[in-house]
Amino acid sequence: MDENIKPVDPEKIACVVCLKEIPISEAKSDEASDYVLHYCSLECYAVWKKQNENEKKD
Ligand SMILES: [Zn+2]
Repeated sequence: MDENIKPVDPEKIACVVCLKEIPISEAKSDEASDYVLHYCSLECYAVWKKQNENEKKD
């Protein structure tokens, strides 16, 4: 009865900006409209926000 099993990696999601896979627990998230976006870092969040603002600009 050896319980030498390593814990499985936590659930991972992809950063919406750089598509890097990160554990959900470490992801920065932001609710946009009806869905939640995940970022690996605040840097990527800033990038996405900037892109989004540009796209929305008329
Ligand atoms: Zn990222």
